[in-house]
This record gives sequence, structure tokens and C-alpha cells, in this order.
Amino acid sequence: MKRRTFIKLSLITSTILTNTKITASSKIQNNTKKSNILILGGGFAGISTAKYLKQLNPNLNVTLVEKNNTFISCPFSNAWIGEIEGITYESLCFDYNSSILKHKYNFINETIIDINKKEKIVTTHKSILEYDFLVMTLGIDYNYKKILKKSKEKIKEVSLKAPAALKPGSELIKLKKMITDFKGGNFVITLPRSSYKCPPAPYERACMIANYFKKNKINGKVILIDPRAKPASKANIYLEAFNNEYKEFIEYKPLTNFKDIDFRRKKIYTKHFNEKLNKYMKNEIDFNEASIIPPNRANRLYKKANIEMYTQGWVKLRKPTYQTITDSDIYVIGDAQGEYPFPKSAQMANSCALVLAKDIDARIRNQVFDYKRNLPGNVCYSIISENKGAWVSHNYKYEDKMITFSKTSNLSKNNFIAAKDWYSSFTKELF
Ligand SMILES: Cc1cc2nc3c(=O)[nH]c(=O)nc-3n(C[C@H](O)[C@H](O)[C@H](O)COP(=O)(O)OP(=O)(O)OC[C@H]3O[C@@H](n4cnc5c(N)ncnc54)[C@H](O)[C@@H]3O)c2cc1C
Repeated sequence: MKRRTFIKLSLITSTILTNTKITASSKIQNNTKKSNILILGGGFAGISTAKYLKQLNPNLNVTLVEKNNTFISCPFSNAWIGEIEGITYESLCFDYNSSILKHKYNFINETIIDINKKEKIVTTHKSILEYDFLVMTLGIDYNYKKILKKSKEKIKEVSLKAPAALKPGSELIKLKKMITDFKGGNFVITLPRSSYKCPPAPYERACMIANYFKKNKINGKVILIDPRAKPASKANIYLEAFNNEYKEFIEYKPLTNFKDIDFRRKKIYTKHFNEKLNKYMKNEIDFNEASIIPPNRANRLYKKANIEMYTQGWVKLRKPTYQTITDSDIYVIGDAQGEYPFPKSAQMANSCALVLAKDIDARIRNQVFDYKRNLPGNVCYSIISENKGAWVSHNYKYEDKMITFSKTSNLSKNNFIAAKDWYSSFTKELF
């Protein structure tokens, strides 16, 4: 039997909870009605949602469940890899406790294992949690099966020896070690054909690895294998950097699909689209180290909870809201969303969190919330070299469907400074 513990809602301000059952919407002694909002996943989307809910209405009972006890940021992790001045591993790590104390939400440091929509119950490895509203912000999982023919051994080998490193923690540390131990040769990065976490991240990473090679006089080259005709984000900026700043250090291979990897022979097999012959041609590339980024999909817990999804593995929502098609009391924001043309970025997750918090707050007050007049926005910076950066911005209009307005900056020192300022103020707001 799971241990169930009753938490007195009225007394909670900022609490770290373990072995807990949160009560359903309840009347407390002074007869104020309280509602319970359970947020699953303490990434940028989850923490931002908790923060905005408590800012909008300090009386709300908001609880965040997260398996890790330290927050590690993906934004600026490439700058750490590239040894950009002032960016240390410590500058990527944040203490959940600072956020809990600052924004006064409850925190449960446990691993979620199941969601029962019918009973409105979430099970962790220690507790059973009840909710009125569930906000799922569990991020992505890798879908290696799509590219590695369902071979379990191969999937394990690739994930260990050629980590995608789109998730912070051990993968990122392994990638950093692969780079710092690199003696020369080809460092190959492969991109998936379908959408993945942070569209500019692999291109920024190529620049940052090249920056490291250049700075440390390593006779190495980053080979970037991309199924697209041009980079998925900030295309002109990256092409300019590949062709000028990193001419000797980056080889960009567009219209090329990853097919297989042989760690013994040190070969990567690809298919490249030959525009003259109008057909795909087989090719093989020698590698010394590799990072294989497989197709991404929403965290496996969404499927386990029978949340309706698109075939690519992203969650379906009730347009124009962030409520799932499956259950109007279950919301999804962040990287797992599939409904709108929103880039999978931390800034986007944060902006959607504010919209979502306003919706839940309005629902609790029995007010109607208009998503069409409360659209999110995004600005995503990239560090390109020691002192140059760029950004892309996204704004939206809703007319039966979401319409995107996008703008890309030039490559400049000012944008490098702006990127650093963004990271510093963004993380300061949350922690
Ligand atoms: C290299 C790189 C650079 C990037 N740079 C930028 C940038 O400059 N700007 C920008 O805006 N975005 C950037 N991004 C994108 C950004 O990191 C993501 O879009 C953002 O993290 C998405 O937030 P999320 O909360 O949806 O998911 P996540 O941040 O992935 O959070 C999901 C959380 O759920 C938790 N979780 C998962 N399963 C369980 C479970 N079973 N039990 C409990 N907890 C669980 C995880 O531990 C995690 O904390 C970058 C990404 C990468 C990879």
C-alpha cells in the first residue's frame, strides 16, 4: 500500500513535500475555496508555470513534481562547451530551493511513474497525488527506434557512445569530455528530419565545438549532417558562420540523411540528395567522435497516460488553448506541445506558462479566458563565436490557425552581449 499523507492546504506557503497526497479542491477553515494545481516536470515550462500561478494568485495551491534535485540549463550549455569566457558548468546549474523560496510553491522531488486521468491521480515512486488541474511539462524523449531499426543493443551503444545531449546532465558531460579529449579528425553531428528540441541548438553547438578547436589549435573538423536544405533556424547567420568564421572547421552537409553508424569501422552511412541526378546517393563518412540526434517525441509518460498525440509523437491540444484534446483539466506546454508552430525553446515555454497561468486563474474565478488575445512570443539567442551572437524572434496572430511572424537579427557583438544579458535575467527571474 502506498503511504498517503494529508497536507493542510491553508498552512502551505513554501514547502518541500515528500510522501504526499495533495487533497482535491477543498474548503479550508476560513471557507475560502482553494484549488489544486499539480505541475509535472520542473524544467523551464514547469518552473515558469509555478511562478506565474503564484504571482497571479498567491492563494493557489501549486505543487511541482520533479525527479532531479538540481536544475541544469540547456540554454548556454553550448557556450560552456565552446569555452566562452565567463560560462562555467556552475553557471548552468541552479538550486530548486531558490525558486521554491522565491515563488512560494510546493515541491516534490520524486519520479512520476503513472497518471490516472479518471481518478485524477498521479503516482510517483513514493506517493499518490490528487489534482484538480494537471499541467504536464515533461519535455522530450528520444525516438531511436525510428533510425536504428529497433535494435536494443545498437540503441544502447549509440546513446552511450554518440550522445544526442539535448538533455542536460550526464549526456552533456559526456559530450564535453568527448570534445576536450579530442585529438583531431572528424567530429560528426547528425540531425533528425523531424522536429526536435531547440531548432538552432545543433548549429550553435557545431559553432561552439569549432570555436573550441580553433582556440585550442586542434586539427579537427565538425561535419554537420542535415536532412534539410538549409539550417532549421537563423539559416543565413549559420551559413555565414560556417563559410567565414569556421571555414576550416565546419563542413555543412545539407539534404543528407543519417542511415547507420559502425563504431568498429568508424564509419557513418548517409544518403545525400544529388540535385543534378535528382536522387539520393549512398555515402560513408569517417568519424573520430559523433553525436547522433535521433527524432524527438513527447516524454513517454504522455503515451502511458493515453494523452492523444500526433503520429510524430507531440501532444494534441484543443485549439486555441493549451488544454489537451483528451481532457480539458490536463494542460500541456513546453517541448511536448505539438499543436502550434511554436519553437521548442525555453523562452517560448516561459511565455506559454504565463498564458496558461492566466487561463487557469480565470477558470478558477469562473471567468472566460481568451487565448486569441493572449498570444505568446519568443526570442531565441545564439552564441556564434567568442564575441558574436544573433537572435530570432517569433510573434503570433490567431485566425482559425496560428500565424507566425518571424525576424532574424544580424551577427554582431551587441547581440552577443544581449544573449548573455538574456540568460542572466531569465534565470534570475526563475531562481
Ligand atoms: C543545447 C541546447 C541549447 C538551448 N538553448 C536555448 C536558448 O538559448 N534559448 C531557449 O529559449 N531555449 C534553448 N533551448 C531549449 C530549451 O532548453 C527547451 O526548450 C526547454 O528546456 C523546454 O522546457 P520544458 O520544461 O518543456 O522541458 P525540460 O526543460 O526538458 O523539462 C522537463 C522536466 O521534466 C522532468 N521529468 C521528466 N520525466 C520525469 C518523471 N518521470 N518524473 C519527474 N520528472 C520528470 C525532467 O527532469 C525535466 O526537468 C536549448 C536546448 C538545448 C538542447
